[in-house]
Amino acid sequence: MPFSSLNLKTELLDNLKTMGYDSMTPIQAQSLPAILNGEDVIGQGKTGSGKTAAFGLGLLHKLDVKRFRIQSLVLCPTRELADQVAKEIRTLARGIHNIKVLTLCGGVPMGPQIGSLEHGAHIIVGTPGRIIDHLDRGRLDLENVHTLVLDEADRMLEMGFQVELEGIMDRMPIERQTLLFSATFPEQIQSIADKIMFKPVMVKVASTH
Ligand code: ADP
Ligand code: MG
Repeated sequence: MPFSSLNLKTELLDNLKTMGYDSMTPIQAQSLPAILNGEDVIGQGKTGSGKTAAFGLGLLHKLDVKRFRIQSLVLCPTRELADQVAKEIRTLARGIHNIKVLTLCGGVPMGPQIGSLEHGAHIIVGTPGRIIDHLDRGRLDLENVHTLVLDEADRMLEMGFQVELEGIMDRMPIERQTLLFSATFPEQIQSIADKIMFKPVMVKVASTH
């Protein structure tokens, strides 16, 4: 199925073409209609199935560029993954005014992050520990977040981020869209999903594209 079958902003369709993304991968085809419809979605698919563009397109489609507030938060288990996700979102967003994507990860000096936060952003991509740190110090305001993404949720739990995840969720509007992606689906994920998601649509894809 081509991306053009979705009701996406023209700029996003143009960028997809430039990136060489001609048709949707199975997880994109199955999750994007619900994501664009504002529903909560749980996506289960192996590495390489194209989960980043699935949630990236969803949050970019909904973003109000003229409103310079943090509107989306993407949580990733590691800095490497957060950097990859931020890079893909920036590529998808290319040329759409001045969409600001900021990464906030551990293992990076605090100073420059504080400076960047003072300048503001539309989208934050980060690791749970560092996000909590900024929240605790009153440097990060998530009150305008309308899309929350938990990427590689199973790995975040394996790494012991459960308390941080719950702390972050507590500081975010309840009225929001939550997208959860995971390669595996242990019991612990189900119980988190029950707590933080509203009638999620489940999408499960076995193979890569
Ligand atoms: P996952 O997060 O599921 O492991 P990624 O989002 O990292 O997967 O995507 C895996 C690879 O597939 C990346 O190199 C990405 O650029 C590419 N990709 C994603 N969607 C498409 C698509 N629709 N068409 C072509 N390539 C794609
Ligand atoms: Mg991924």
